[in-house]
Amino acid sequence: MTQELIGKRVPVLDKGWIELIDLMPHPAAGVSGDLAIVSAARVSFMGESKGEEKDKKLLFYLMRHEHNSPFEMVEFKFRLRAPLITYWQWVRHRTFHYQSANAQSGRYTEFDENDFYVPAAWRQQHTSNKQASGANLPDAESQELTEKLIAFYDEGYRLYEEALEKGVAKEMARLFLPGFSVYYTWVVKVDALNLMNFLRLRMASDAQYEIRVYAEAIYREFFKPALPWTAEAFEEFAMNAGE
Ligand SMILES: Cc1cc2nc3c(=O)[nH]c(=O)nc-3n(C[C@H](O)[C@H](O)[C@H](O)COP(=O)(O)OP(=O)(O)OC[C@H]3O[C@@H](n4cnc5c(N)ncnc54)[C@H](O)[C@@H]3O)c2cc1C
Repeated sequence: MTQELIGKRVPVLDKGWIELIDLMPHPAAGVSGDLAIVSAARVSFMGESKGEEKDKKLLFYLMRHEHNSPFEMVEFKFRLRAPLITYWQWVRHRTFHYQSANAQSGRYTEFDENDFYVPAAWRQQHTSNKQASGANLPDAESQELTEKLIAFYDEGYRLYEEALEKGVAKEMARLFLPGFSVYYTWVVKVDALNLMNFLRLRMASDAQYEIRVYAEAIYREFFKPALPWTAEAFEEFAMNAGE
């Protein structure tokens, strides 16, 4: 089951995706991530089980009592493609970015004409929360804005290409590109404990949609299938903590 997760790519937003490129413990080791967590807590040989009931009970005990470090024994490595609007928020998660990430270089690689985020709908400003959005604009207004956005992208990209043709360095020509919408690709590694912190914060209803859909996809498509007991305990004890 977990073997099939490696290499799996899940589409997110209009042009983004998440791909799991590695997992520790690796499925080939024949030990589930849940059991690796339990083994770490017992300081026993990885994969040594005391039976499913006792193993699962211990894992739930660890989660309930915030005995956190065993959850750091499982690691996920992802390749991601997301607009800068998402990346900008992602990099605030130091344990899911700064410690171990490699990002595409706009100094080295040329941006592609289709590297820009086009939202499916336009959300209105939230009436009471200055940082949040509310209901979608009516379809006709949304469509008009989308057309303007695409025209803006086209013009920015045309100027970018014009600058490149004049011999301007890629690191400078990119000043013409719409910064917040440009798609970025990066590789990042995170342990299960810090991933749960990210998921708790970014799957919450107050997280911006453009990062929430990535968090939800990671949880649904990778975290839950890789760590079913941990996900169950997370939902019971930790997912809504602090709300
Ligand atoms: C809805 C929402 C709105 C936000 N709005 C803003 C905003 O307006 N402006 C803004 O700047 N940020 C904002 N943020 C980002 C937020 O402040 C955090 O930086 C981000 O969520 C990362 O959380 P974290 O520190 O728990 O995660 P990580 O950086 O991954 O850290 C995980 C945990 O590791 C520990 N840790 C990591 N690094 C250190 C360290 N150097 N020293 C001590 N302990 C450490 C902490 O216990 C931390 O909780 C927002 C986040 C959310 C979810």
